Amino acid sequence: MNEDRPRAEPADPLAEALKRHWGFDGFLPLQREAMAAIREGRDSLVVLPTGGGKSLCFQAPALLGEGLAVVVSPLIALMKDQVDGLVANGVPAAFLNSSQPPAERRRVRERLVGGHLRLLYVSPERLAGEGGEGFTELLARVGVRYLAIDEAHCISQWGHAFRPEYRRLGSLREIFPGVSLHGFTATATRRVREDIVEQLGLERPRVLVGSFDRPNLVYRVFRRGDAASQVRRVIERHPGEAGIVYCITRREVESLASRLAAAGFPALPYHAGMDAAERSRNQDAFLGERVGIVVATVAFGMGIDRPDVRFVLHTGSPRSLEHYQQESGRAGRDGLEAECVLLYSAADFVTWRRLLERGDELDDSARRLLADMQRFAGSIRCRHKALVEYFGEEYPSRSCGACDWCLGELERVAEPRVLAQKILSCVLRLRERWGMVQVVDVLRGRDTAKIRDNRHDELSTFGLLDGTPAGELRGYVEQLLDRGLLAHDGDRYPVLKVTEAGRDLLREREGSGDFDLYRQRRPKRPKRAPARGGAAREIVDSWEGVDRDLFDSLRELRRKLAAEREVPPYVIFHDSTLRDMARKRPASREALLTVYGIGEKKAADPGPRFLEAIAAHGEGGPPAPTV
Ligand code: ADP
Ligand code: ZN
Repeated sequence: MNEDRPRAEPADPLAEALKRHWGFDGFLPLQREAMAAIREGRDSLVVLPTGGGKSLCFQAPALLGEGLAVVVSPLIALMKDQVDGLVANGVPAAFLNSSQPPAERRRVRERLVGGHLRLLYVSPERLAGEGGEGFTELLARVGVRYLAIDEAHCISQWGHAFRPEYRRLGSLREIFPGVSLHGFTATATRRVREDIVEQLGLERPRVLVGSFDRPNLVYRVFRRGDAASQVRRVIERHPGEAGIVYCITRREVESLASRLAAAGFPALPYHAGMDAAERSRNQDAFLGERVGIVVATVAFGMGIDRPDVRFVLHTGSPRSLEHYQQESGRAGRDGLEAECVLLYSAADFVTWRRLLERGDELDDSARRLLADMQRFAGSIRCRHKALVEYFGEEYPSRSCGACDWCLGELERVAEPRVLAQKILSCVLRLRERWGMVQVVDVLRGRDTAKIRDNRHDELSTFGLLDGTPAGELRGYVEQLLDRGLLAHDGDRYPVLKVTEAGRDLLREREGSGDFDLYRQRRPKRPKRAPARGGAAREIVDSWEGVDRDLFDSLRELRRKLAAEREVPPYVIFHDSTLRDMARKRPASREALLTVYGIGEKKAADPGPRFLEAIAAHGEGGPPAPTV
C-alpha cells in the first residue's frame, strides 16, 4: 500500500522493527502509545498487567533514532535473560552489573564507547549509587536518549516489593538532565502509581493504564476438600506442562512436593527456609524446563519469567486479592491459555489472622484485605469481573467465557429457597451463637461431642440435610453470607447470624422472586479461553490446527538448544511460536518469517535447525496440509 515510498523510510518504522526483529505483526494495547511517548521524549508511566508486553515498549524505540537507551532493572537474573532474548533477536544489547567478571564489564564498556550498543541494562545501584560517577560520565559521553525504569513500583513503599536501592533513582533527573524518564509497572493501585510519579520526579508524564483483565486465564475456585486429590486432578489436566503450586506454609510445601514426587509427578519444593544453593538449583531446573512443577510459598515468584506456565494452583487462600492477582498472574505470560485454580477453606483465613498477628501485621487494613479475599473466594459470580472490578475497572461483558461460573461448571440446585430456609432456620435454632462448623454438623446430623454436650441432636433441624457433603453445605452457607442473608459476627470465632433479608426469606413462600444456589461440578479439561479485544495475539490463542506431536518434538529441540547455549528455553522461542510452527510447518526461510515471533535473526539462527526437525517429522508423520 505504500509502494511509492522510498524503502529507507518505512511508513511505520516501529511496526517494521517489530516485524523484522520480533516477528510480530502488530501492537498490543497501549504499546504504540507507550512507544510514542518515548519517541517524543515525554516522560511516561506505563501500567500494564503481567504479560501485557511492557518490555517491547522500551526495547523497540531503542532501534530508532540516535543515542543509547538505558533500562534499569531490579533483578540481575532477569537482566541477563532479557539481554539474551534481545541478542537472539538481533538487537545490540548488553548489561552491566556486579555479578560480571571485570573483563566482561570492560568489554561492555568498550562496546558502549564504540557506539555498538542500542540498549544497556543496569542495576539501580550502578546508575545512581555510590561509585557510579565515572559510569555516569561515561554514559553522558555516549549520549543517553531515554531511561526506562522497569518494575517501577519497587520505588514505592506502598507497593508489595519496595527496594531501598530504587529510592536512589530519585536523583536520575539531576544526573541526566534533559533525558526523558519512563516508568513501567504491573501494579494497579493508584497510590503506588502516584508515588512512582513523585519519587521519580516525572514531569507532566503521559500516564497509560491498560486493562488488567487477563482474558487468557481461566479462573476456578473450589472449596478445599480432599486437597491431595484436588491437586492431582488439576495437574493431570496439564500433562507435561509447567505449573506453580502455592502453599501457605513451608511445611505444606515440603509435604506436598514429596507426595507429588512419590506419585510420579516431577515436582520440586521452593521456600525461603531452604538453603540458598538448593533453592536456586530448583529454580534453575524449573526455568530450564528440566522440571515442570514447583511447589512453593510466595517466596517463589519475583524473578520468575518463565512465560509458558500453564497453571497456577493455590492450595490455600492468599492473604489478599492483590497477592492473588500477582501470584495467579504468573500463569500464561505468553498470552496463551492457562488455568488458575484456588482451593480455599475458611480455616485459611484463621491461619492468616494468626500468622499476621504473630508478625504484628494484623491491622485494620490487613483485616479488610483478608475479608475481601474471603468474599471473592466464597462468592458465586464471574471471576474475571470480580477481579477487575476489585481493582477499580469496569467489566463490560456479561460473560468472560473463562471462569468456572461463565463456563457453566456450577450447577443450580433444584430447590434453592427450601435449602436456604433449612440453613437459616438451623442458624436460628442454634440461637445465632455458633459458627459455620457447628451449623454444618447439625444440619448433617453428625454425632460429635459438641453436639451431644449441647443437646443439639434434639433440635428439629438436626440431620435435616444429611447426605449433603460438608464442603457443598459450607459452599451454600458462603453463598448466603455473600448475599447478605447470613452475616458473620465476631472476629476470632465468628458466629453466624440471620440478617433482616434472611428473615424475610424465611417468611416468604415458594417462588417469590429470583433466588439461586449453586454447587460445583468437576471440571473437564479447560476449554480454550476466547481471545477478546482484537489483540495481535489472537491468532495464536488456540491449539487449532496444531500438530501436537510435532509441537512436542520442537519443544524437545528447544530444550536441547537452550541447554547448549546456556539460555532459558523461552529465549530460543516461546510456546506460541512453536505452536504456530507446528501449525504452519514452514519448509523454507521465507515461510519461517511468517511464523509468529520469528524475525530475521531467528530465521537465520536457530531457524534452520527447526526447519530440519519439521522436515524430518514430515517424513514420518502425516502429510503437511497444503495451503
Ligand atoms: P510484561 O513485561 O508486560 O509482563 P512481556 O514483555 O513479557 O510482558 O510480554 C508478554 C508476551 O507478549 C511475550 O511473550 C511477548 O513476546 C509478547 N508480545 C509482546 N508484544 C507483542 C506484540 N506486539 N505482538 C505479539 N506478542 C507480543
Ligand atoms: Zn466469567
